[in-house]
Amino acid sequence: MIVTKFGGTSMADAGQFRKVRNIILDDPERRVVVVSAPGRRYKGDTKVTDLLYTLYMHLQYSVPYEDIWQMIAQKYTDIARDLGLSDSINMELEAIHSELRRQIDQNYLISRGEFLAARLMSEYLGFPFIDAQELIRFSYDGKVDQAITDEAIAHAAERMERFVIPGFYGAYPNGDICLFSRGGSDITGAYLTRGLGAKIYENWTDVSGVLAADPRVVDNPRIISNITYAELREMSYMGANVLHEESVSPVADRNININIRNTNEPKEEGTLIQNECDGGPIITGITGMKDFVSFDITKEHLANEVGFVRKVLEIFERYKVNVEHLPTGIDTVSVIVAASSVNHCMYDIVSGIERTLEAQVSVRRDISLLAVVGRNMAGKVGVCSRLFSALAGANISVKMIAQSPDETNIMIGLDNSDYEKATRALYSNFLDCGWL
Ligand code: ASP
Repeated sequence: MIVTKFGGTSMADAGQFRKVRNIILDDPERRVVVVSAPGRRYKGDTKVTDLLYTLYMHLQYSVPYEDIWQMIAQKYTDIARDLGLSDSINMELEAIHSELRRQIDQNYLISRGEFLAARLMSEYLGFPFIDAQELIRFSYDGKVDQAITDEAIAHAAERMERFVIPGFYGAYPNGDICLFSRGGSDITGAYLTRGLGAKIYENWTDVSGVLAADPRVVDNPRIISNITYAELREMSYMGANVLHEESVSPVADRNININIRNTNEPKEEGTLIQNECDGGPIITGITGMKDFVSFDITKEHLANEVGFVRKVLEIFERYKVNVEHLPTGIDTVSVIVAASSVNHCMYDIVSGIERTLEAQVSVRRDISLLAVVGRNMAGKVGVCSRLFSALAGANISVKMIAQSPDETNIMIGLDNSDYEKATRALYSNFLDCGWL
């Protein structure tokens, strides 16, 4: 069995629904279909989930809300009309509309995006509908109760051979709706895949897989055909957005693979994500992010002071700031953090370090971090040499260097203004020598 999940752009209009149906009909193993709420049909369009959040704010502040409601409702009625479906969606819409006047629960309202999409898809495919409230079970702490969820899914599989289910939400023990974080339909698909023991989790989206570099920076980057879960995590942490990160462990734990596919190009094989991959290029991908800040801390004889770094880190912890990197010299240590995480406490941290540790601190802003990721870099001679020659060739100065202990990630700090140039220089250099 294959569990399929279709993201918002795959659900955006009747044309996309038709593509989904062709994909499902193409392989009888595709028996479980998880859907997102309709996403953008074109640039500038608004996703249903965003409209629902706006609607909820209007209700909260008693601002007229009929226009927004109409925009939402029309997305569904247009799809139903264009596909020649029954008018049962109108009844569902009317039931929700009538509840808007009462104190509607926020999670319930937001979850209706996926609920209505799954209703339409179930009718269109002729597969039974099952509500995610029945299968995805949360504890009151907002975490999925794995055992109850697995049991509910196994029970559903005994009753139904195939079904359509809304993504993004489930229920607390008392039946109230609980949402995953944004993009959470990916997680629903992962729990179903695991609970059903499916052979693969197909995640259908609008790109043909994980790209080897950011397409806004590099023209037409390669699609990565095979990537490990660990590499994907490194790529995603540093900015490559493909899957919701919480969707990995439910399937990786069971050694099930995820296949990222493109609803608009169903013939393309996409990216296969596995615990272990054989072969493949030296470099899997290049990724990164801008806007980090470096707190450069200097003190004479710092290298001999036991506990110095701990005391520095405690100050960052006090302000709940996540530390990204910690390059050290003999009498200096730098703490690199995301700029957005210290906006509110930058000066408190500087004065805290100066006071408590009697050290000098200078702050460098506008730093970007670029990561070169590849399982096959481990033990390979000459990777750093090629990397730094490529940067030197592009006249780029390196501000920081770090390599993960397993040699699968080399991270370099640069000026924000050099980020794009550096990414392109590395990408074309690695591509030209056949390493990417
Ligand atoms: N519709 C939700 C969102 O926009 C969940 C999802 O699509 O995965 O975040």
